Amino acid sequence: MALCHQHPDRETELACDGCGRSFCESCLVGILGRTLCEECKFVAVKGVTAPRRRHPNATLVMVLPIVGYITHLALFTGPIGLYLGRKMLTEVSEDPNYTGRTLAMVGMMVSGASLVAWIVGAAAGLLVGIR
Ligand SMILES: [Zn+2]
Ligand SMILES: [Zn+2]
Repeated sequence: MALCHQHPDRETELACDGCGRSFCESCLVGILGRTLCEECKFVAVKGVTAPRRRHPNATLVMVLPIVGYITHLALFTGPIGLYLGRKMLTEVSEDPNYTGRTLAMVGMMVSGASLVAWIVGAAAGLLVGIR
């Protein structure tokens, strides 16, 4: 019989899977299929933090201006793309679990450009029409 690392007055047959030290039942927790002490649990949980994932709007922000360009609806998709890109940029900088900061900025730029291109195109068309 060994003594619990934290409770020298308690005898135990249990040990931590992580560090191998003896602990009593109340000191050990079952986590990720292993029996760990408080210290090892902390380390294990830290190592298993959720992987960074791409922001759900990342694809939309990139596709929107292209769709707008193809369908000649940049007047609508441009502002929506700018809005979504800005919103996404804020969310990505607030939540470290998200990636897609560059995508959001590129998306905003492309949306802005498509909007400008649409306005220039419309203005040119108008000038041609007047003439
Ligand atoms: Zn341990
Ligand atoms: Zn204990």
